[in-house]
Amino acid sequence: MRTVDFAGREVPTIGLGTWNMGEGRAPRSQEADALRAGLDAGLVVVDTAEMYADGGAEEVVGDALAGRRDDAVLVSKVYPHNASRHGVRAACERSLARLRTDHIDVYLLHWRGRHPLSETVAGFEALVDEGLIGAWGVSNLDADDLRELGQVPGGEGCATNQVLYNLTRRGPELGVFPAAAASGMPIMAYSPLEQARIFDAPGAEALGAVAKRHDATAAQVALAWTIRNGRVLAIPKSASPARARENAAALELVLTHEDLAELDAAFPAPTRPAPLEML
Ligand code: NDP
Repeated sequence: MRTVDFAGREVPTIGLGTWNMGEGRAPRSQEADALRAGLDAGLVVVDTAEMYADGGAEEVVGDALAGRRDDAVLVSKVYPHNASRHGVRAACERSLARLRTDHIDVYLLHWRGRHPLSETVAGFEALVDEGLIGAWGVSNLDADDLRELGQVPGGEGCATNQVLYNLTRRGPELGVFPAAAASGMPIMAYSPLEQARIFDAPGAEALGAVAKRHDATAAQVALAWTIRNGRVLAIPKSASPARARENAAALELVLTHEDLAELDAAFPAPTRPAPLEML
């Protein structure tokens, strides 16, 4: 099983997303079951945010982790408008109550807003000192923002940058990835299935062809591709226990040079840097 050092813990490079959970699209108990199925299959990182369903997704995570908090490395995110020196504390306490836990393992700035990075980092560091969070990171920061963060007092403590990355969104390979590698941080890849649009995207027939060779599914190939370099942790979301298990099994799928070449031809790598995309 592939793992990566994530905020001081060795974790599998596939985790569990939760956007759209807690909105009633699927029964809440089924969503929690799907997260538990992923944990049972060996996944560890659970990603959520105060934004998702206005806290409803954090409540689903609280359900899923009841009685098994230590099985997960729990990631949540603060809204940019709450990311002032003191705002992060209040937001974190609200998240902890919904998650029904006493600590978040990795707390992320969801995207860059009006509060200076220096204030947010100072707020995060205070939460680390108090033990309310284990580590902190960022999301949706482009390469220039990451370099700026590195200059902020305490900025070198950033544990990860969570960005949009999948076969149809390869821009980070030329911008964010080298910047993150320079500071030694792993990347979290969000929407690794392009919110299920990847199955119908131009080039999807290559996904199908590679999947057939491995007796795997297109989703598993897309995930195995996303984590292929060992420094990326993909966090697919599924409200289905069976799909959560299917996604976890992608940790064992190793793509060959032939597979990678076929996927490269169908989903070309970027040739020049472009601004980071976000959903
Ligand atoms: P994903 O790329 O993970 O796609 C989720 C969709 O794919 C759902 O419709 C799901 O349906 C479907 N799906 C999941 N597994 C399978 C499978 N094996 N076969 C077929 N379909 C499947 O999109 P998300 O946008 O949810 O991204 C993942 C996570 O990343 C989020 O949940 C969130 O935690 C995080 N995120 C972070 C952002 C940020 O700004 N930091 C932005 C966006 C996402 P079903 O549930 O019915 O299985």
